[in-house]
Amino acid sequence: MSEKQDPFSAPFGTLFGDHMSVASYVDGVYDYPGAAVPMENFSMHPAAHVLHYASECFEGLKAHRQVDGSVAIFRLQDSVERMLLSIAKLRATPPSAELLSQLIIDATTANASFTPDAPGSLYIRPTFIGTAANIGAAATPSSEAKLYVINSPVGDYFPGGVRPLSIFIETDIPRTTPQFGSVKSGANYVMALGPTLDAKRDHVADQVLFASGDDVTETGASNFFLCDEERLITRNLDDSFLHGITRKSIIQIAHDMGLAVEERSIPVDELKAWSEHGEMFLSGTAAVIAPVGTVMTRGETVQVGDGQPGPTTLKLRNALTDIQTGAAEDKHGWLTPL
Ligand SMILES: *Cc1c(COP(=O)(O)O)cnc(C)c1O
Repeated sequence: MSEKQDPFSAPFGTLFGDHMSVASYVDGVYDYPGAAVPMENFSMHPAAHVLHYASECFEGLKAHRQVDGSVAIFRLQDSVERMLLSIAKLRATPPSAELLSQLIIDATTANASFTPDAPGSLYIRPTFIGTAANIGAAATPSSEAKLYVINSPVGDYFPGGVRPLSIFIETDIPRTTPQFGSVKSGANYVMALGPTLDAKRDHVADQVLFASGDDVTETGASNFFLCDEERLITRNLDDSFLHGITRKSIIQIAHDMGLAVEERSIPVDELKAWSEHGEMFLSGTAAVIAPVGTVMTRGETVQVGDGQPGPTTLKLRNALTDIQTGAAEDKHGWLTPL
């Protein structure tokens, strides 16, 4: 909790700002005191709905130190809209977009001094939890909830910075259930954990790329792309996977650069063939753009290109981080200055 701790040496997500914003949902309305408060532990009934029936969802976005020293949030409105959809998918009552934006801005403003210089950033974690004390409510939404925002100064998601990842393609086990694929809910991550740990152990993979039914979708927490000097290819949107805001930003940047963008299904064989000439990467708020250097299936290991980050991958990554830090023009209006 000290501004002096170095986010580049601490593990991602283990340092925190000293303030948070909290709204409580009781009797059908959200009550927000109107300002951030000092960070402190919650007190909760052991029967709280979230602890038993996983009434939880969250967001992940970032504030970046700008080249002029100020701090700006990247794609605030997109995260707000996605979280309202997630809360609705939990069949809980969403707050207004204005209230959620206010909570995010208030916490992040209170913690802005924790924002490291690029390539570090201040990660923002809005969270919704069902707090009603009722272990009989498995089949009803929590009648009470907390909506809160905390901040975490972060360095690199992958220790060692931008290095090519090895991914294992899982064609049997899905990441989560089809109806919850696009929800940023905690339950999805514990479901993906088993296959991910098994692949780390059995194949020495960094991540698992889920492709059940021969349909390449995404990893446990990142979207997936194929690219080369002319094309960018990623899975078309549906409810089976998370609609990344980094994904959406990369597609726009690729359009701006004149790449042909294809949003469609990707069979595993196409991915393997692509490794002979093309590039692959993962995208997400935490990882930004992470190049893939090796692809593994059960019994086969394929190197992607020369195994190093490709030129188009690095070009897209630089274009994105330049917009995030104010080094390039924000022509799509993605930044909210604090
Ligand atoms: C958060 C997340 C992503 C990436 O979304 P961004 O908005 O780009 O951060 C991709 N897949 C999953 C499963 C995620 O949870």
